[in-house]
Amino acid sequence: MIISLKETAERLKTANELILTAHISPDGDAIGSCLGLKYILEQLGKKVRIIIDDDVPSFLKILSGYNDIEKPQEESYQADYLVILDACLDRVGSLVEKCKAPVLNIDHHATNDKRADYLYLAAERAATAEIVFDLGQELGVEFDKESATAVYIGLATDTGYFKYSNTSPHTMRTAAALLEKGVRPETISEAIETKDFAIVRGLAKALQTVELFADGRAAGLFLEYDLTETIETTEGFIDEIRIIDGVDVAVLIKAVQPEVCRVSMRSKVTDVSKLAARLGGGGHKKAAGCTIYKNLYDTKHYLMDEIIKSLEV
Ligand code: AMP
Ligand code: MN
Ligand code: MN
Repeated sequence: MIISLKETAERLKTANELILTAHISPDGDAIGSCLGLKYILEQLGKKVRIIIDDDVPSFLKILSGYNDIEKPQEESYQADYLVILDACLDRVGSLVEKCKAPVLNIDHHATNDKRADYLYLAAERAATAEIVFDLGQELGVEFDKESATAVYIGLATDTGYFKYSNTSPHTMRTAAALLEKGVRPETISEAIETKDFAIVRGLAKALQTVELFADGRAAGLFLEYDLTETIETTEGFIDEIRIIDGVDVAVLIKAVQPEVCRVSMRSKVTDVSKLAARLGGGGHKKAAGCTIYKNLYDTKHYLMDEIIKSLEV
């Protein structure tokens, strides 16, 4: 059932125990949203746990509360609501099975499958963290510096530091309000942009695989399992090819297992969320992804063909 921001706030207010979760391969928005909402709910006296069915990337360790994030280890979980942030039910792993509480879903992906018991969907928001800020206002909770930093990380990572087309006046107003709480943007960008030597070497190897398609309207990076196995994250790799002059769609395909490839797509014009959704994934018009259960070679040929057919320019 689709609900309003007000009803979302009301439901959170009446609950006592909540479990917050987000998508696997969690990003800055997934974790920032969980930590921001946890702070709001704790201010209201609620018992809150964040449980994520995946490793949380170490670049987020600057966030206070990072060490309290749990992995699902128990057989079953009790709560008044299972709150799913920044994803719908199909991308949160085992928790949906293990926690039978009603699902309250807060998301900004237009491709959300709308299966949650209660869904607040704001596709016009650049980040789920931006919605968490709205919820704080609705519930009359002021963020402190630490929780404001978590929300800011969500905004900054989903907008490429306020560069992408999803950045709205509301995004900027939200960021301004967070800076007023003491958030230091340079501390955050340094922490996020700092990369291990191994990752920079991985980036160098990844860039050697760059290829152009469709007269230069699409570009791709193709990472073998041998390479992805050795690097903790490929966050930001795709940005290095979306800047190629004339490229509309940029793609990063990485084998996360020999027969499983994770796909990231970015575009300037073409709606890549349509193709991602058709292939079982989702996202936004200009940033989307999916998982394909083939080896790298087969995924590359299949996907690049589909992308070339779907180019809108
Ligand atoms: P990424 O390329 O992983 O940064 O993802 C780009 C956007 O697409 C983000 O908003 C993701 O949440 C979304 N996305 C990526 N993979 C999937 C998927 N398998 N299913 C649904 N949404 C996805
Ligand atoms: Mn996300
Ligand atoms: Mn997001």
